[in-house]
Amino acid sequence: MEAFHERHDGDRSDSASLIADGAEFLADRPAILRTIAAPGGEDAQQLRMSANLLRRRAVGDAVHLRGLIEFSNHCRNNCCYCGLRRDNRRLARYRMTPAEIVSAAERGAALGYRTVVLQSGEDPAFTGPMLAEIIREIKRLGLVVTLSVGEREPREYELWRSAGAERYLMRHETADPELYGRLHPGQTLAKRIALLKVLKQLDYQVGTGFMVGLPGQTPETLLADIDLARELAAEMVGIGPFIPHPATPLADSPGGIVDQTCLMVALARLALPYALIPATTALGSIDPQGRELALESGANVMMPNLTPRLHRADYQIYPNKICLNEEADHCRGCITGRILGLGRIVADDPGHHPLWLERNQALGQA
Ligand code: SF4
Repeated sequence: MEAFHERHDGDRSDSASLIADGAEFLADRPAILRTIAAPGGEDAQQLRMSANLLRRRAVGDAVHLRGLIEFSNHCRNNCCYCGLRRDNRRLARYRMTPAEIVSAAERGAALGYRTVVLQSGEDPAFTGPMLAEIIREIKRLGLVVTLSVGEREPREYELWRSAGAERYLMRHETADPELYGRLHPGQTLAKRIALLKVLKQLDYQVGTGFMVGLPGQTPETLLADIDLARELAAEMVGIGPFIPHPATPLADSPGGIVDQTCLMVALARLALPYALIPATTALGSIDPQGRELALESGANVMMPNLTPRLHRADYQIYPNKICLNEEADHCRGCITGRILGLGRIVADDPGHHPLWLERNQALGQA
């Protein structure tokens, strides 16, 4: 496979040609499938280098920080890989109060974050109007609000968008409908995709993504994950390794590996040159250098934790999650050091998707 950086003529840096180059690179599907099946090989290394080059040309060296507030670990669902699943009776459940959530956001603003991510299990105790009020309070701090609270009613998504939330994360986890059904009892991939399209229509910056190394996953289904993210024109793509949790039905399955996860990060960058792609905490949890490797494979976002320390250990979708005992300001310092250590910089702007920003500026809404 010819590397992107070897054949790129160096002059074609407008957005249309970068997108076309990435798409052209992905067009050789048999070669891409072979590379996914051999993620430790030379082709995979070259592909990751190419994605890193495309990342620099499309979105630059800045890494965007998103302060993560995990405000409730209650969940009505029973996803087979997740430590928060409702059948996990060993977990101490918590809900932060609205005042605690806003106070965590204030802490994030004081640390210089421009975005907070409000994440929880699917917890209907946080009603649509309650979350809308929390969003309004946080908007008063001048922060961008990303929501990650799962499948809800379209009218709630609309309410939260009107309250000021700009982004929504909801991974599809796997684009294989049969595997999706097995992993998510009572849920369907079709509904998840339909809701992601609703979020797009509401003009959220929409994040999807998937796990790498799920039992039953194949190179074909992993490539289908990339195809789906591209079909949705996702503004954000979160990709992490599957890490088996001991309190789930998948406790004894082997987990995902760093090389294949970073390769999928690289493919996401080639598919969506302007996307916001995190170096996930899950990658950092299976390899101390996992996040750095993702940043060098096309990622440009990191998500330091703002959840009060008291609750962090109880928000473990997967086990052995890093940074459970660090204070928020320690996380800020640690992550900044990692970014600078790679010769990259920490972004100081809100970090919107450039094409979304262009569209909203044209409408006078950003
Ligand atoms: S993955 Fe999300 S929806 Fe599924 S059980 Fe875990 S927290 Fe709930």
